[in-house]
Amino acid sequence: MNLEQLKREIQGCKKCDLAHGRTNIVFGCGNEKAKLMLIGEGPGRDEDLQGIPFVGAAGQLLNKVLEAAEINREKIYIANIVKCRPPGNRVPNRKEAAACLPWLWRQLEIIRPRIVVLLGSTALKNLIRPDALITKLRGKWMESKSGIKIMPTYHPAALLRDPSKKKLVWEDFKKIRDEYKKIMNEVS
Ligand code: SF4
Repeated sequence: MNLEQLKREIQGCKKCDLAHGRTNIVFGCGNEKAKLMLIGEGPGRDEDLQGIPFVGAAGQLLNKVLEAAEINREKIYIANIVKCRPPGNRVPNRKEAAACLPWLWRQLEIIRPRIVVLLGSTALKNLIRPDALITKLRGKWMESKSGIKIMPTYHPAALLRDPSKKKLVWEDFKKIRDEYKKIMNEVS
């Protein structure tokens, strides 16, 4: 199974109610062999229209952070907890996230990243534990049973609402950059 095959399989998915309001399923984008994967919350309006994650204002800000950290967006992989836009950009509920997560697990199985960055509280709560707090855990490395290094940080949309968080995210991305460089040196 590769990502193209999985993408074909997901077409027409109606496993949750978010299917009704979507224009496109936002599957994810980037390199199938990425060592670094970013996981956000869900598509917004621009993402829904284009079918690509992180292309709106938050995506532009993410691009700037990646550029500053010398991380090439083409070489990494970007996906979300849910692949269809929640109405009015609300946070996806537990039922929607639970319905969509098996797709993400399958993407992770195919890509097998060495580092996963959780962008925001929704990714953290759904992938680590429901009571996890982004304010407490951001910037701290965790490790999965299979040895994936995991770093939560704020979602770029949170930085648009509160620019004072930019400094903290940059601190986090410096750690991510250093770890990513180390891994890329190992594999090259
Ligand atoms: S959000 Fe996920 S589970 Fe729900 S319909 Fe879209 S692809 Fe299917």
